[in-house]
Amino acid sequence: MLTIGLTGGIGSGKSTVCRLFAEMAIPVIDADIIARQLVQPGQSALQQITEAFGPAVLNEDGSLNRAKLRDIIFSAADKKQQLDNIMHPLVYAQIAAEVAELKAPYCLIAVPLLLESKNPYAVDRVLLIDCPLETQLQRVISRDQLSRQQAQAIIDSQMSRADRLVKADDLIDNTAGPEQLAEQVKRLHNSYILLATARTQSA
Ligand code: ATP
Repeated sequence: MLTIGLTGGIGSGKSTVCRLFAEMAIPVIDADIIARQLVQPGQSALQQITEAFGPAVLNEDGSLNRAKLRDIIFSAADKKQQLDNIMHPLVYAQIAAEVAELKAPYCLIAVPLLLESKNPYAVDRVLLIDCPLETQLQRVISRDQLSRQQAQAIIDSQMSRADRLVKADDLIDNTAGPEQLAEQVKRLHNSYILLATARTQSA
């Protein structure tokens, strides 16, 4: 199965693009959704997180206190690494299990931090959703009702646009409106189908 890792900065249009591929019956696996499922009460990830960071990361009802965990991992770089060491193998195993069940020429795996991760999930191609900083800012401000400073601070905390562009195999330029976006998705879909077919034939 050809696997396409979809990534991009905050508000670049990842979810919008995923929806367009899904409308063409292409399966989309979302690493964030998997990560959220893995930390539900009773899951082993939550147990490991509690052992690593202490019971303070739990709410009274036993669910994960995300704000508390965020505070802890932002307090020191090694804490973030510790959390990644717990979560990544579990998330990657779940992604691989879901990919193995799929019957499709190719699939998308949405991983917002694919390019930032030290040890990312291995995909065949990296598809980057890109738009100019000002467009990204405006879309985040209006979607999340943030101030310009708040939106800018989140963008500044992420990998730079230039660094992402260097690492991508494929690119969707999401500067313009929905029509241009849909057109690019269709074009890429056709090229992924060709690529997937060529692979099957040479296997
Ligand atoms: P996040 O990183 O926060 O998960 P995202 O990368 O998934 O965000 P979207 O939620 O898809 O980004 O898009 C951000 C906002 O911009 C949304 O409100 C979406 O409707 C809007 N948007 C996306 N693409 C376009 C476009 N081509 N034209 C106009 N608005 C767009």
